Amino acid sequence: MRVLILGGTTEAAALARALTDVDVVTSLAGRTRSPATLPGQVRIGGFGGPQGLAEYLGAEAIDALIDATHPFAARISANAAVAARLRPTPRLMLVRPAWAPQSGDRWTTVPSIPAASGAVPTGARAFLAIGRQELAPFAGRADAWFLIRSVEPPDTPLPPHRAVVTARGPFREDEEVALMTEHRIDVLVAKNSGGDDAKLAAARRLEIPVVLVERPALPDGDRVGAVADAVAWIGRLG
Ligand code: NAP
Repeated sequence: MRVLILGGTTEAAALARALTDVDVVTSLAGRTRSPATLPGQVRIGGFGGPQGLAEYLGAEAIDALIDATHPFAARISANAAVAARLRPTPRLMLVRPAWAPQSGDRWTTVPSIPAASGAVPTGARAFLAIGRQELAPFAGRADAWFLIRSVEPPDTPLPPHRAVVTARGPFREDEEVALMTEHRIDVLVAKNSGGDDAKLAAARRLEIPVVLVERPALPDGDRVGAVADAVAWIGRLG
């Protein structure tokens, strides 16, 4: 059996390592210059929309498609749903569970990154832990200071008052507490990505409010939250 994993996440990498009995191709968008090493075949770059992905599924004789992309990568997930209909292919979404608030959390949930920018108070010292590709809505915020953290340096317009840290997670809670304390952060801006929650735990410990961006809607289809369940789904197909 030949399985295409749409990747770019920790879960996708773990799935590629766990699927030892099948032929695995992992597809990456190519956003990161030095992605983690993966077993099996790796292809990089867009497919050219749903039609391109459908053609790829046929040309590469893919038997099953696992969409293990990030919960905020909405376009590729929608494309995968359409492509798997155009070239009928079993499709599963592997989506890590969203974070839920705990006692002590001070969350303001917002529907989008522009809404998150609007929710940062004037004069704030905000920690932007949202990656580097959606920073533009903050570029006009000259009335606040921002700590920007991303894996690769940002290459889009940035707010004028800021510091940029490049670092690749996972991060420990005490590291996050130290970073936020060092920069006198008083609000955290994050996407509800799920998974490693050290920054949220640090915000809770420091009693810092969080502006949390809600997830975009996913397409219909079978969905699991754990790598083991995706492995079992492949097992049932085989
Ligand atoms: P997106 O907006 O959903 O996708 C934009 C376009 O990028 C897609 O239409 C597709 O191009 C291409 N693409 C995306 N993921 C791909 C993949 N795995 N393989 C091949 N092409 C892909 O995606 P995004 O939010 O920019 O995220 C890009 C990648 O980074 C995803 O793989 C995702 O898992 C990972 N990632 C995203 C985030 C996030 O917060 N968005 C965080 C961590 C990791 P074509 O239409 O030409 O096929």
